[in-house]
Amino acid sequence: MAIAENIATRAQEVVNRCRRLAEFSESAEGTTRTFLSAPMRRCHEEIGGWLEAIGAEMRVDPAGNVRGFYAGDKSGAPRLLLGSHLDTVPNAGAFDGVLGVVLAVALLEELAGKRLPFSIEVEGFSEEEGVRFGTPFIGSRALVGRLDDELLKRVDAGGVSMRRAIEAFGLNPGKLQEAVLQDDVLGYLEFHIEQGPVLESLELPLGVVEAIAGQTRMEFTFSGRSNHAGTTPMNLRRDALAAAAEWIVAVEQTAKSVQGLVATVGRIEAKPGATNVIVGEARLSLDVRHKLDEIRVSAASSLIQQAQQIAASRGLSARHALLNQEAVAMDSFLVEEIEEAIRKSGCTPQRMTSGAGHDAMILAEKVPAAMIFLRTPGGISHDPAETVETEDVAKAIECGLHLLEQLASSREFLKRTSRA
Ligand SMILES: [Zn+2]
Repeated sequence: MAIAENIATRAQEVVNRCRRLAEFSESAEGTTRTFLSAPMRRCHEEIGGWLEAIGAEMRVDPAGNVRGFYAGDKSGAPRLLLGSHLDTVPNAGAFDGVLGVVLAVALLEELAGKRLPFSIEVEGFSEEEGVRFGTPFIGSRALVGRLDDELLKRVDAGGVSMRRAIEAFGLNPGKLQEAVLQDDVLGYLEFHIEQGPVLESLELPLGVVEAIAGQTRMEFTFSGRSNHAGTTPMNLRRDALAAAAEWIVAVEQTAKSVQGLVATVGRIEAKPGATNVIVGEARLSLDVRHKLDEIRVSAASSLIQQAQQIAASRGLSARHALLNQEAVAMDSFLVEEIEEAIRKSGCTPQRMTSGAGHDAMILAEKVPAAMIFLRTPGGISHDPAETVETEDVAKAIECGLHLLEQLASSREFLKRTSRA
């Protein structure tokens, strides 16, 4: 079979496998697969079968992550990590996360038994979305040693603690140290759907992520005074909802005025919330992102200031609570190697910032990390309509194979373990 034809077949199989894993769901319709759920076990069994067929050893670590080990050309070879997450949001599509794991397995299959100067460890993270315990990245946190007692005490909606959930899955939370990365890791690579419209708008199948955007999330409260909608004249009102509305427009204008800045008010709550009562208190969420922390932070502080000015001019008060996540740069050496591999696959590499958080962001705390994005039709994700083009998956496989070849022959790369 010609190489191109062979890869097209492999790409089709990758898509089929993602659809097959999507059937392992807690819900009858759509796909819902949360941390340590019964369908997750089915998922492990399926992936275990694929790994076994290519001579890779699979274990499930004490945090519930799939770890598939494909040995290098000599014992003690350093290792390259390749993967993504296996959990989903409620009513998800078939490709978010799962595609990165299935592609990792497909790359090992394409190696057809060939051994490289590094081992490859396939990672199928147990938890990334934060659905069951309200905390994201549980799986990848375990690899960098951040799954601590505080997290283990968290409880899910049914009152089950994370520690208990790990035990109920047949794993030992006392052995979490076994999930932590050793000092032989060269880097972490993650294929993931873009989950946005950028690559599609540029008509490009693949992108290379150079940074994962930082995030500022805030909760704003405008406080005025509730009063009768019929008897309170307009000039004597302290309407919290009208103030909030003025500020929402200011948020939109501020974001539009700065290149690459996105700011969103995604939730609003008005009290008391009756047709004939002026709103006394309005609470809003704000989410601000940019690839550069200083731009995000200065935009956020400008929005806080604007909220206070708007409140003051209307005789109201405004207060806010803040949560920040700094931007994470991807490894520049790996980013350049990925660009080269995308070019060799006949595509134009597009450097981009990921607006969403990913496991690569957590892994980057300990090891060089980088991501490859696949075009997402319609930019649709976290929805059963989420899909990928099989031709794009074929390009991702080609890119991955070029990348492995480049890294295998790069002295600079092979010297890069944390051990060295
Ligand atoms: Zn994801």
